[in-house]
Amino acid sequence: MSDGDDCLFCRLVAHEIPASVVAETETTLAFRDISPAAPTHVLVIPKEHYRDMAAIIADRPELMSDVMATAMEVVGLEGLQEEGYRLVANTGASGGQTVYHAHLHVLGGRGLGWPPG
Ligand code: AMP
Ligand code: ZN
Repeated sequence: MSDGDDCLFCRLVAHEIPASVVAETETTLAFRDISPAAPTHVLVIPKEHYRDMAAIIADRPELMSDVMATAMEVVGLEGLQEEGYRLVANTGASGGQTVYHAHLHVLGGRGLGWPPG
């Protein structure tokens, strides 16, 4: 069994679960979070399964660059350059990660406050 067989986001990449896709490249997918925490809340993932950003950097650093470039594309598509936005990578239990397929949250459209709860 490959990593992706029981992974929610791998199933989404495989079109087994519907997604509201915002942007797509050969290596990445950006789609709206099902439970948005802000007016813009988009998740950017590598299509290939990695459990977190550290795993991507360790194995294939150029893929992290792809993920970041797609996040910047989403920022542009959502018109967030001027007002600003937040990129978040919840990692591990203390970081609040619930889906163990690496993803970057792109949040914007309201004042987000700091620090997070
Ligand atoms: P994290 O807590 O950082 O692991 O983020 C996982 C995110 O995935 C949460 O914000 C969820 O709302 C989101 N999520 C879970 N299932 C889906 C889905 N089927 N489509 C889109 N977003 C999802
Ligand atoms: Zn996966």
